[in-house]
Amino acid sequence: MRDQPDYDVIVAGGGPAGSTAAFLLAKAGHRVGLFERAVYPREKVCGGCLTQKSVRFLDRVFSLPLDALRREGLLDFTGKGCALYIGNRRVLAEGLAEPFYFTRRDRYDACLALMAREAGAEVREGTEVTAVDHVQRTVTTAEGERCSARVIVGADGIHSSVRRSLPEGVVDRQRWRRNLGLALEIKINRGEVEMHQNREAAIPLDADIGIPHVFLGACPMGYGWVFPNTDAVIVGIGGLFEANRRGLPGRFREFLESIGFAAFADRKPAGCLLPFGNYTPSPAHEATVLVGDAGGFTSPILGEGIFYAQRTAELAAHAIDRHLTSGAPLAATYTFLLNRRLIPELEAEMRIRDFLHSHLDGRTPVILLRLLIRATRRRVIDAVQGHRSFQGLFRRDEDLHTAVW
Ligand SMILES: Cc1cc2nc3c(=O)[nH]c(=O)nc-3n(C[C@H](O)[C@H](O)[C@H](O)COP(=O)(O)OP(=O)(O)OC[C@H]3O[C@@H](n4cnc5c(N)ncnc54)[C@H](O)[C@@H]3O)c2cc1C
Repeated sequence: MRDQPDYDVIVAGGGPAGSTAAFLLAKAGHRVGLFERAVYPREKVCGGCLTQKSVRFLDRVFSLPLDALRREGLLDFTGKGCALYIGNRRVLAEGLAEPFYFTRRDRYDACLALMAREAGAEVREGTEVTAVDHVQRTVTTAEGERCSARVIVGADGIHSSVRRSLPEGVVDRQRWRRNLGLALEIKINRGEVEMHQNREAAIPLDADIGIPHVFLGACPMGYGWVFPNTDAVIVGIGGLFEANRRGLPGRFREFLESIGFAAFADRKPAGCLLPFGNYTPSPAHEATVLVGDAGGFTSPILGEGIFYAQRTAELAAHAIDRHLTSGAPLAATYTFLLNRRLIPELEAEMRIRDFLHSHLDGRTPVILLRLLIRATRRRVIDAVQGHRSFQGLFRRDEDLHTAVW
């Protein structure tokens, strides 16, 4: 008889995806090891925007309703509207009944990892997974320790070592590269903005920068953003890597100048790859599954990833639980759940993204785009918030929210 493995499940990576998987599996009574390379609280380059679908997820899965999120310090800022620009023109400014929230990732990620620990997971900080043996079902750490498990979860982000260890064919590498995103971002203290912002700039922002500002077409196949935090604003630009591999730093400087932030154009932005439509339809091999950025799961329109990281982790945790308790085939169960609950929505977003960007190249008059946006804005905002499906924009989207446990 085979020796008892060290863990039922090893989760590599303790971001939102990894902590969600570890929390749910530990709560279900499994022996979980969460191996995180960094030590909490750790920074993650991110706009920190939480849509209503994320807030709803935190309530449903972690029993963290809004007042608990506030109490835990997880909501840094509430944006009660949004402003949308095409080129230099503001095409929409809308107050919202349901706001966008902004979190700080150092706090958010540390809190979820703590909840996984409290649910019974062994959270090992400062532990980097460097190799995976899919046949033996072991991971090796940077210290050379080898640990075994019945299931391995790759939740180790966009540069996932677990994904790279999978055989050719599990991830379509061409498709992955074609839909990879590239982003640049800086965080500027409110005090500095107050002192140095040029208020006569080509694109004037709201005086208090109290709502998210989104700039379609700020770079090819992408957009720019100015997100509010209490003490700072987060300014970024990002789009498909293939369309932006050259020239993104220059475009970022131009973008900063256009919004009155020329004084910050010399700052070195954080540069990051991110998934932008390169989700893997069947991210599983042997007893290993990928969740979150490691499997390419973000919104192909906005690059929003926190919700998708946590939702894929929930679907994977359910498939793993069924595999461990009743022998259900792991890869088939996880793939089925993804295709039932998430992938059709991501495919619909891809179609909308491609349509939108093919009309932002200057050939379609802005007035027409403005009319289109005005006509569809409520439905689109509802879809971004997770109340409505992107598939036709006409029906409610319960697939994103249905409990699978
Ligand atoms: C510029 C930018 C702005 C963004 N803005 C938003 C936004 O406003 N809202 C939103 O919803 N999403 C946003 N995203 C996307 C979001 O940040 C990600 O989709 C999300 O963090 C994915 O979560 P994850 O748990 O899959 O991966 P991550 O958050 O990247 O977590 C992975 C974890 O694994 C650890 N790790 C890595 N390698 C190893 C290893 N070998 N062994 C052990 N641990 C390892 C890392 O330290 C990290 O803690 C943004 C992304 C970028 C780049």
